Amino acid sequence: MAEAYQRGLEPGYRFRCDGCGNVTRFDVIEAARTRRYHHFDLGGDGQVDEEEVLARTIESVTCRWCGRDDAVRVEATPNPAR
Ligand SMILES: [Zn+2]
Repeated sequence: MAEAYQRGLEPGYRFRCDGCGNVTRFDVIEAARTRRYHHFDLGGDGQVDEEEVLARTIESVTCRWCGRDDAVRVEATPNPAR
């Protein structure tokens, strides 16, 4: 299911809640494995200069309207982005 949910974030696809018909508002919980280039100054303060996502897995998609996480599926958008 996680791989199917991933497609919902790609252009040309969207989520749909079969519980209430919502296609625009969802809470997406995602776990990501990343490589970050942390750049520190001599005092130890730092910032992230680069970040690469090595792997990501969507754990759940919850409808913001009705709260269901067991009725959300992925479908092709009616007018895919070009
Ligand atoms: Zn819903």
